[in-house]
Parts: sequence; structure tokens; C-alpha cells
Amino acid sequence: KIETRGLRVSFGQTQVIVGVDLSIPDKSITALMGPSGSGKSTLLRVFNRLIELYPEAKVSGEVYLDGRDIFKMDVVELRRRVQMVFQIPNPIPNLSIFENVALGLKLNRLAKSKRELQERVRWALEKAQLWDEVRDRLGAPAGKLSGGQQQRLCIARALAFQPEVLLADEPTANLDPENTAKIEALFLELKKDMAIVMVTHFPQQAARISDYVAFLYKGQIVEWGATRDIFTKPRHQLTEKYVTGRL
Ligand code: ATP
Ligand code: MG
Repeated sequence: KIETRGLRVSFGQTQVIVGVDLSIPDKSITALMGPSGSGKSTLLRVFNRLIELYPEAKVSGEVYLDGRDIFKMDVVELRRRVQMVFQIPNPIPNLSIFENVALGLKLNRLAKSKRELQERVRWALEKAQLWDEVRDRLGAPAGKLSGGQQQRLCIARALAFQPEVLLADEPTANLDPENTAKIEALFLELKKDMAIVMVTHFPQQAARISDYVAFLYKGQIVEWGATRDIFTKPRHQLTEKYVTGRL
């Protein structure tokens, strides 16, 4: 579980996260919503400290993963436990399907033998519901897969680390309805084992699969709660406009 206290992020003079206190429970999907520029992607990038790759970003406040301060944690360990997938699937296109999943495991020495590596790659591809489609062509370049398959490959690559948290930044924004439905079904399966934080611009998607909604506006959480409550009795005017599709 992730908890933040008084989290702030600024780029130069501009504050983009302005005192966020948020709790992301285990075994659930939290939909992170809010207008463009409200700070959703920035917030995700704090959770795995990807934000530190932006030299102009200043972060203050506290973030805990299972009660441990993420800023005092070994960053390699943190990123193993908190994985991320993006809007545009980003496998290494000319590397094989197998190697895309195996690479991180090799670099982190997470498999003791070739056989264990193979088993773990297969496990991740099965978890990502891609195995049946690729089992006969694991050596083919990842770039040959369809967009929806590439996204599931990136999810498999993330799952190979057996993360506790999966961060997903608009994971279906580039997918057709069929592939979107696949990812949604997959997330509902995955949340049995982890916390998922998913940024989405689709209120219907949040309604379909999320347990909690956090609504961000100008770097602040203006509303947080169980999805049903947010959709049936939104308290903030902006949330109401969002969930009723009037924004
Ligand atoms: P969208 O829905 O469009 O993806 P978002 O909610 O994800 O938006 P962020 O990408 O988190 O928004 O950006 C929040 C604010 O921080 C924006 O005003 C953006 O311009 C600013 N910002 C983000 N990254 C940087 C950066 N590297 N340098 C300066 N400003 C940045
Ligand atoms: Mg974003």
C-alpha cells in the first residue's frame, strides 16, 4: 500500500503537486482522474521515483510503501516493487518478445538458471494473458506485435518482477475497444495480487473497473473515495461534471 503525506512537486517556480495526502490500498484499483495538466503523470512518477530523472523537479513531503519511506529505500528495490506501464507501449521493438520480458530479470539477476528464467517469462506472459498468442513465436521481434499485444507485453515485462504496485498511465488511450476490454479484464484479475493505480480520462472506465477514484485538480486531490460514492454523489462540482460526462 502507498501513502503520501504533504507531497509537493515543483518544476522551477511552478508547483504542480500541492500537498497531496493519498492512500492507495492493496488489492484494489485506484483510478486517478483529473483535467490535463492537473499532475496525474507527475504523481505516478513520484511513486517509483522516476521523477528524479527530471533534474528541475523538486519533491518534498512523504511517501510510504508498506510503511517504508520510499526516498530512503534503494531505488532499484523500489522500482522492482513498483512497476509502470505507459500510454504508448514501449517494448524494445527489435528485441524478441522473450527478451523484452527476460531482460530486466537478467539485469537484476532474478533468475538463477536459464530454466528459471524461461519459467518466469512464461509465467509473466500468462499473467498478462499474452502467452497463447505468442508461445509459437517468442523469438520474433516485439515490434511485430499489434498495439494491444505490445501493451500486454509491457504489462508482462512489469509483472515479471512480481510487483506490489502497478502504475498505469492511460494504458488504454491508444487502444481500440476490444483491446481496451482485454486490458480492463486483465487489471481486474491482477488486482487480486497488487495495488493498481491507473490514470484514465474515461469516466466509464473508472466506473467499470476501479474501486477508488482520486480526482486531481491543479495539483490537489479535490475528491477521493469509493468509486460508487464518487459516481452517485460527487461532492465537488468538477468531479460531478466529469462523472456525468459534461466536461
Ligand atoms: P495529461 O492528462 O495531459 O497527461 P497530467 O495530469 O498527467 O496531464 P502532468 O504531466 O503531471 O499532468 O503535468 C502537470 C504539470 O506539470 C503541467 O503543468 C506540466 O506542464 C508540468 N510539467 C510536467 N513535467 C514537467 C517538466 N519536466 N518540466 C516542467 N514542467 C513540467
Ligand atoms: Mg499525463
